[in-house]
Amino acid sequence: MRKCYLVVLVICSQFLFSQTDTRVYDIIKSISTKRIENDIRTLANFGTRNTFSDTISNKRGIGAARRWIKSEFEKVSKDCSNCLEVFYQKDFVTTNDGERVPKDTWIVNVVAVQKGTKNSNRYVIMTGDIDSRNSDPIDFTKDAPGANDNATGMAGTIEAARVLSKYKFDYNIVYLGLSGEEQGLFGGKGFAEFAKKNNWDIIGVLNNDMIGNIEGVDGVIDNRTFRIFSEPTPITETEKEKSNRRFYGGEVDGISRQLARYIHKLTTTYMPEMNPMMVYRLDRFGRGGHHRPFNDLGFSGVRIMEAHENYNRQHQDLRVENGIKYGDVIEGVNFEYANKLTAVNAITLASLAWATPEPKNVKIGGIVQPNTKLKWDKVSDENIIGYKIYWRLTTSPQWEFSRFVGDVDNFELQGIVIDNYYFGVSSVSKTGHESVVVFPNDIIRTTFKRN
Ligand SMILES: [Zn+2]
Repeated sequence: MRKCYLVVLVICSQFLFSQTDTRVYDIIKSISTKRIENDIRTLANFGTRNTFSDTISNKRGIGAARRWIKSEFEKVSKDCSNCLEVFYQKDFVTTNDGERVPKDTWIVNVVAVQKGTKNSNRYVIMTGDIDSRNSDPIDFTKDAPGANDNATGMAGTIEAARVLSKYKFDYNIVYLGLSGEEQGLFGGKGFAEFAKKNNWDIIGVLNNDMIGNIEGVDGVIDNRTFRIFSEPTPITETEKEKSNRRFYGGEVDGISRQLARYIHKLTTTYMPEMNPMMVYRLDRFGRGGHHRPFNDLGFSGVRIMEAHENYNRQHQDLRVENGIKYGDVIEGVNFEYANKLTAVNAITLASLAWATPEPKNVKIGGIVQPNTKLKWDKVSDENIIGYKIYWRLTTSPQWEFSRFVGDVDNFELQGIVIDNYYFGVSSVSKTGHESVVVFPNDIIRTTFKRN
């Protein structure tokens, strides 16, 4: 009788904590290559989407492009009984804002918010860019189709909205088209400030910038690998946090890095055909992207992109030189690959918007003891089923070990020595979705009784 009860318990816990959510597979299947292709073609056909290009025409320029993106989001919203709140968010830049601003201009972002059922201020964000460029970043007249950079990221964002709008989520999802990327990350900066001003609690930003090229400039062809760039630790940390790290660790465990690990784990769980590649840096060497302005304000955010770039096809005037074709044209985009990377985003958005919030004030202790102890503040969410402790060797890029410890606010791992591992805690929802892992930010002080 007792044995039998135990078996049921084991099966039950397997079901709750190991089994995958079939809705996630449905989401992957629903992403349409054809729709992504159509959208990339539409965006490339606006001729140029340079930040300073024409805003009046309905056929050419960034004005036409953003109005079309807004109308696509509105169509999606209409099909889900107005489940999206669609609006423009804009900021004004002037020629004083940098050498890449040839004239005073409104930087206009297109925003679609899918409100979660919990009516909270927690948001997970997917971004692509509206704007494009050719060889000269301030040339706003000549063609700059930007098929890969970054019509792919924008098309993926619109497609994620189409698919995810068929589901209800606990927390808010934002589908975001940003502008002014190529001249100084203006759109991201403006939107990050907008989010901060409105007290958004951002779960994470998934910046998609070039998700369609599978042929590297060196000829390598790879339609399975993609990169997740994440900065090591937040730039906004305090001096105390910085100096604590020297003694307690955490050099490779900032919030954006945890988000990157989350995407890596979800991909290998649900899309094992893909090879996510963690890159332990903010962005490519000396180059930038739209996750950075969010990181600048202390928000967690990563860049998702192709593994092999083709420099002949990015930031280039359309031309043939010495037999080499230059320019960011449709022929350089692999739509199936853009579909896969869109799916990676969509399942991450879904999982995070279904997950319970991450535990706060995670503390750790165990100095000169055989066990490691963790302590955290419980999350208030009726869907929570408990917490999971993760640990890994200090040299491992991914969390290697985990233990579900139930609905408690502290736990002692027997026989695990604090010195030899890094630790973290996540929350687990009834549907099995997990929050991002939280690295401890404080120490449990042991008070010794003196006799
Ligand atoms: Zn670019």
